[in-house]
Amino acid sequence: MACGGDPRVRWSTGRKARLSTGDLGVLWRRHVAQTYQMQPRTALDGGELMIDGQLAPVLDEVLRRNPGEAEFHQAVREVFESLAPVLAKNPQYADAAVLERICEPERQIIFRVPWVDDSNRVQINRGFRVEFNSALGPFKGGLRFHPSVYLGIVKFLGFEQVFKNSLTGMPIGGGKGGSDFDPRGRSDGEIMRFCQSFMTELYRHIGEYTDVPAGDIGVGGREIGYLFGQYKRITNRYESGVLTGKGISWGGSLVRTEATGYGTVMFAREMLKTRGLELEGQRVVVSGSGNVAIYAIQKAQQLGATVVAFSDSSGYVVDEAGVDLDLLRQIKEVERGRVDLYEERRGSAKFVAGGSIWDVPATVALPCATQNELDEAAARTLLTNGVIAVAEGANMPATPEAVAAFQEAGTLFAPGKAANAGGVATSALEMQQNASRDSWTFEHTEDRLEGIMTGIHDRCAETADAYDRPGNYVAGANIAGFTKVADAMIALGVV
Ligand code: NAP
Repeated sequence: MACGGDPRVRWSTGRKARLSTGDLGVLWRRHVAQTYQMQPRTALDGGELMIDGQLAPVLDEVLRRNPGEAEFHQAVREVFESLAPVLAKNPQYADAAVLERICEPERQIIFRVPWVDDSNRVQINRGFRVEFNSALGPFKGGLRFHPSVYLGIVKFLGFEQVFKNSLTGMPIGGGKGGSDFDPRGRSDGEIMRFCQSFMTELYRHIGEYTDVPAGDIGVGGREIGYLFGQYKRITNRYESGVLTGKGISWGGSLVRTEATGYGTVMFAREMLKTRGLELEGQRVVVSGSGNVAIYAIQKAQQLGATVVAFSDSSGYVVDEAGVDLDLLRQIKEVERGRVDLYEERRGSAKFVAGGSIWDVPATVALPCATQNELDEAAARTLLTNGVIAVAEGANMPATPEAVAAFQEAGTLFAPGKAANAGGVATSALEMQQNASRDSWTFEHTEDRLEGIMTGIHDRCAETADAYDRPGNYVAGANIAGFTKVADAMIALGVV
């Protein structure tokens, strides 16, 4: 089908247009699940139900109102499983319908993102921004560009973000966004045109006092640059605080790039300390090889651990000599290649196509790729091989059954909303620097990150103790994150 006057500009999805939106959604999710070997789970699929009687009807209503959003159901259920004792102690939360309100995003925006590829074909993607909760501050959370993105993924991430941001102690609410755009294999020009089109709609919904997006999977410094450039052009404002993850020379913060991976390892170090252990000498496996994974590897190595494996969606690499981080960064950050290139260039490395990286024995496991990448079978393999600590660098990478297996075995387990909060916390530090037209040194900013991560660890541990769940960081994170937001929501009235 021709579009406009230029015969070279054509719809690339003409056949799909004859299908209904519902068909498309089902077909698309099936295609993505097959392509990316994802295993979306339903919330009530036979797993052990630990939802309190008071919470069950609220969860039922969430499932009814948000059909087909498996990841969102999973995230809500996981938080609800921790909240029964909180509601028992604090009847004011039920009286003010805080749970019902906290599960309903304040605003959900879905928009068309049209752009023209290098072959002059018109491409259409779908853009999302879910502004989940602004009780503590402007909505804050990343943008994800990945073909698996649909409303359920954005809502799960936004929901998690609310509690994570609360845990940081910084004045930030929670939100998330993204697109089903697949950046893989796209030229720099295509990425720029996509980002510009995406921002041409998004700009009217964001602002330094309203909603402050950042990066996530598929959105790094390059994409933030194109997004910020378009925002600046449309609004005629150099409003640095509207996006975080900016380049250092144009309003970014030192340590932001490293912060999520560094913070995850700092959290793991604090957990190990509670058992009189340290990271030095541990054997570490890190899944993924993107932003979070690379800087988790770097910090683990700085603290004396040996990192022996990493991965991407094509497979995993084992390097018994310890990962050569410079080589990995060259392949991933400069050449944007696949991890099998690492094997070609390093004698001690072995690439395994497909398979599970969790088959590689480790004492510390850091899942840093994506949601539901570590299932119960993988958890049992890790346990058999002697894992003592697991910290989630990614959001919800361990399935509920995997988390239960770790907890039953007494393994230290840190949920992502606590362990990977260093990224958003440093984004809040970036906002502070933007607001004061200042820029801090690497050392000062890393010290602040250290203080924040240690604080989150202690808050989770103390809250778990106070609610009689010692050592349960999942309960500690959920309860501490929830109560702060809930109290603010009550203070602000029914809005
Ligand atoms: P990234 O730079 O895009 O890297 C993602 C990595 O995960 C890549 O190695 C990618 O491999 C792999 N991956 C993605 N989807 C996959 C799938 N379906 N199956 C297997 N591997 C997959 O993203 P990131 O920023 O590191 O984010 C990683 C995780 O951390 C996400 O869960 C994100 O939400 C979370 N997180 C990120 C931040 C942050 O500051 N960046 C903060 C908090 C939490 P391919 O290249 O082959 O796809």
